[in-house]
Amino acid sequence: TYVVTDACIACKYTDCVEVCPVDCFYEGENMLVINPSECIDCGVCEPECPAEAIIPDTESGVEQWIELNAKYSAEW
Ligand code: SF4
Repeated sequence: TYVVTDACIACKYTDCVEVCPVDCFYEGENMLVINPSECIDCGVCEPECPAEAIIPDTESGVEQWIELNAKYSAEW
């Protein structure tokens, strides 16, 4: 699963949303988020993000973003 991090805040591009094959991006409070149960881990969105805000959830230090992506995407 990939997660969106704080670099997304204030980014107004939606290239990631357009390339995602399963439409699992959702709008959070001030950033986009990825629904962890819908993401198929394809990695297509990662290089499309101009803010480099999208990273794999296996990277260190992303715990708070994993939580936030799950929380915001669950509100839909
Ligand atoms: Fe969508 Fe693939 Fe990115 Fe997951 S890794 S959010 S499925 S484009």
